[in-house]
Amino acid sequence: MEEKQLQDLRALLDGHEVFVVMDGPAGSGKSTVARATAKSLGALYLDTGAMYRAATVRLQELGIDLDNRKACAQAVSKMVFDPATNPDSGAVFVDGKDVQHLIRTPEVSEVVSKVATNLEIRATMVKQQRRILLDAVKEGRIIVSEGRDQTTVVAPDAPVRILITASPEVRMRRRGLDLGGEITKDKLADQVLRRDRDDLTVANFETPTEGVELVDTTDIGINEAIDTVLTIIARKFTPVG
Ligand code: C5P
Repeated sequence: MEEKQLQDLRALLDGHEVFVVMDGPAGSGKSTVARATAKSLGALYLDTGAMYRAATVRLQELGIDLDNRKACAQAVSKMVFDPATNPDSGAVFVDGKDVQHLIRTPEVSEVVSKVATNLEIRATMVKQQRRILLDAVKEGRIIVSEGRDQTTVVAPDAPVRILITASPEVRMRRRGLDLGGEITKDKLADQVLRRDRDDLTVANFETPTEGVELVDTTDIGINEAIDTVLTIIARKFTPVG
């Protein structure tokens, strides 16, 4: 979007309670689109996947068996999460330590769904994420959050809800590029398709529920995807008539 259009959009949103929530499968582009959308709007940004990843890293640091669901849930309920909401920062603090450099390894991607399919842990996370969204809105800030369950569970009443998707082939290709091409096809399928299959047992991020806008990024580039999202946001806040 041109700078002038962005200025008009920011003026349109001024004074409104704006929180934009996005769901989507691995490799759909949701993180990139959500972060860029937040930057364009001068908004805050919440990467909820980073919170599940941080919980996983912290549980491993504490030596807790990820298959021991009760012990994991108890430990996570005591953890203090403080993900940076500045879209220019990737910091994610858990119990006072920034773990951003530890959370995106293939090893964490391999096991994070064990943590994310623990329903007690999800309840803790949902509460924390809602608190962050509400605090932002109370401060008069726009916030864009993304994850697997944002449109359906965390903020089903958000003024803008979007599901970002893409074909499995494209998502695998993107994730492979993210990882520098140094990963076998089987491992890539594990990180994208198997992880989504596991995650889908606890959240719906395949089909848009009522009122959720679908943005399919299979055949479009990142800039077009961002523009599509910004146009959806503008439409939601443009008075009718
Ligand atoms: O988005 P990202 O791939 O970083 O998410 C990592 C993992 O965190 C997902 O595979 C999923 O298991 C979990 N997650 C979730 N709910 C969210 C965000 C992420 O279950 N809102």
